[in-house]
Amino acid sequence: DTALRLRDLRKEYRMGKQTVTALDGVTLDLPRGSFTAVMGPSGSGKSTLLHCAAGLDRPDSGTVELAGTPLGGLSERALTKLRRGRAGFVFQAFNLLPSLTAAQNVSLPLRLARRRPALAQVARALAAVGLAERARHRPAELSGGQQQRVAVARALVTSPDVLFADEPTGALDTKSSHQVMGLLRQLVDEHGQTVVMVTHDPVVAAWADRVVFLRDGRLAGQLDRPTPETVA
Ligand code: ADP
Ligand code: ADP
Repeated sequence: DTALRLRDLRKEYRMGKQTVTALDGVTLDLPRGSFTAVMGPSGSGKSTLLHCAAGLDRPDSGTVELAGTPLGGLSERALTKLRRGRAGFVFQAFNLLPSLTAAQNVSLPLRLARRRPALAQVARALAAVGLAERARHRPAELSGGQQQRVAVARALVTSPDVLFADEPTGALDTKSSHQVMGLLRQLVDEHGQTVVMVTHDPVVAAWADRVVFLRDGRLAGQLDRPTPETVA
């Protein structure tokens, strides 16, 4: 059972007369309930891969199937709708709206997906990240680790098929980073959530079931059951 199927993804960027190859034929399957880390040097194509896989960007060629739906034939509008319903996003900088409470931030994807923001659903997502008591707090009243856990709750509230995380611990200290990774691990182990994350940090990557390495837009290796030592 495959949550995300990527076949021979290619993507170039044109800058004046220069052409940069960001993805050079990437093929990858994410089984449902798996936790994958994507590593590689700066400029190796990690963000481009994540964006194409999540339907935020389109590859020049190749196919992306998210929960069995090929994204290639979809109109912009249909793609946006599918993304809002089936993908969740966590970013390095949390990207919470500062004027909204934790609960209001978590309810946003439901509003965008035009689902009725059911209180119970928001409460469940906040409870799942251990922040039921902080529902009425604004981001500035929360630590960095707590803000990122609110961002994880926001990503989860629509029950996405795949949770995409771009350097989710990049702005966190060691302790908060450990908490957020423990949380992602728990979502995979206890709820069968599919997670794919980009990271530079071998200790963070070691929380995944599998690490794939990108180099010059190609898959350059894979490590199953990684540890911080084997990743680094
Ligand atoms: P990574 O996330 O591994 O650092 P990226 O996917 O951001 O790599 O970038 C891959 C390559 O594509 C790099 O050479 C980068 O400079 C180039 N690139 C990425 N986005 C753009 C863009 N919007 N315009 C031009 N070049 C880009
Ligand atoms: P346990 O229940 O074995 O005490 P945890 O609940 O802390 O462990 O972690 C659950 C999963 O996360 C286990 O598969 C474990 O291998 C992995 N894990 C725990 N700590 C780390 C770490 N620092 N780096 C990478 N993976 C870890």
